[in-house]
Amino acid sequence: MMNDSGGGEQGAGLCERCVNVKIVESARGSRFYLCQLSATDPRFPKYPRLPVLRCSGFRPVDRDR
Ligand code: SF4
Repeated sequence: MMNDSGGGEQGAGLCERCVNVKIVESARGSRFYLCQLSATDPRFPKYPRLPVLRCSGFRPVDRDR
């Protein structure tokens, strides 16, 4: 299957397109993927180890709206 996410942003796995992620950019231009579920659910680390390939909290961003 084609991956047409369209950008060079590979490497974060599921977090890349999860509604629960918050992408934080540092002053140096590094990107951090903050899992917002971590605030309410201790099963999720605040900064998950990437790439996340499987995650029970993953919910894809709905791009059709
Ligand atoms: S729920 Fe899972 S896939 Fe979504 S941001 Fe958190 S760790 Fe990443």
